[in-house]
Amino acid sequence: TASLPRTARIAVIAGDGIGTEVIPAGIDVMHRAAGMDGCTLEFTEFPWGCEYYQRTGTMMSADALDILSDFDAIYLGAVGAPGVPDHVSVWELILPIRQRFDQYVNLRPMRLLQGVPGPLAGRSPADIDMVCIRENSEGEYSGLGGRMHRGTKHEVAEQTGLFTWRGIDRIARYAFELAQRRPRKLLASATKSNALQHSMVLWDEVVESVAADYTDVTCRKYHVDALAARMVTHPQTIDVIVSSNLFGDILTDLGAAISGSLGVAPGANINPERTHPSMFEPIHGSAPDIAGKGIANPIASIWAGALLLDHLGMTAAHDRMVRAIERVVGEGGPRTPDLGGTANTRDVAAAVTDALS
Ligand code: ATP
Ligand code: MG
Repeated sequence: TASLPRTARIAVIAGDGIGTEVIPAGIDVMHRAAGMDGCTLEFTEFPWGCEYYQRTGTMMSADALDILSDFDAIYLGAVGAPGVPDHVSVWELILPIRQRFDQYVNLRPMRLLQGVPGPLAGRSPADIDMVCIRENSEGEYSGLGGRMHRGTKHEVAEQTGLFTWRGIDRIARYAFELAQRRPRKLLASATKSNALQHSMVLWDEVVESVAADYTDVTCRKYHVDALAARMVTHPQTIDVIVSSNLFGDILTDLGAAISGSLGVAPGANINPERTHPSMFEPIHGSAPDIAGKGIANPIASIWAGALLLDHLGMTAAHDRMVRAIERVVGEGGPRTPDLGGTANTRDVAAAVTDALS
């Protein structure tokens, strides 16, 4: 179509551990998938992460955020290494990127792919096809609060959730728009307004007010505890979920579990207004236990790459990549050990590339 972008510039932070193995696999597949529509992708790699930290004392260079701001998107592997505390790798790389680029949407598809043995007995892929839209910038993770009478038996800790009308409105709109584009047009709002009488009552009110603008979407609210149970007992009734930061954190781990393997689960940190780059990543970590062996599953990274291309308007390339993943996993193609196979990262990436056409 006329609006198809011809070129895109993508910043790559492969990071640590298996990030450096699965990201090159994803890049190969993206090149091919976009090339089939005549689109050119330019990847620029940055050496940031824990190894960089151990050499220099910082996770990224001082001008990293300025450099990244010039790119169309960011493709991230994983950061983390034994000996580097999580608060360093997360607070000095992932959170600054999310905050600076106002990536307030965390999107996670949660699907059981054909051929993956999920943990829910008797469930077919048609039953488990959800997307969680998690609020990524405020809520329970606002950081507000403190501790009093430290170290005494009178110690008190207070952790304050911060919910704004604007923050809830913008995440709800994103979720409704997504639900509207999906065949079932269902939205589940995760709440807990029976116990959290300030924040979650505001949440419900704002979601309800946004619902009035999307009358073709069926929106139901569920208390988060009941929603977690429903994801296990009646997953076929869930389509799109919209949630606060903490609730989404928990629900998406449950979602990854019922999809069968961390090695196939992608995630996106999105700035919907496109005033800043969005960031796409496999949700797994650096997996030091299997790093360096060449056996990490590249499906999560390839799928994250597909989400990246979709965000840049290369919808056909996205669809082609997801179909190729479905074909390789579902039709007895090579599999890495996490899915019960004996193939390596490269074999799987090559099979997905072949399946593009
Ligand atoms: P980090 O501290 O970077 O988050 P972690 O070890 O806490 O690392 P993950 O890296 O997510 O957490 O790994 C959890 C488990 O899942 C590990 O046993 C790992 O081997 C496995 N795993 C994660 N990703 C993959 C993958 N892409 N392919 C195969 N196995 C994976
Ligand atoms: Mg971890």
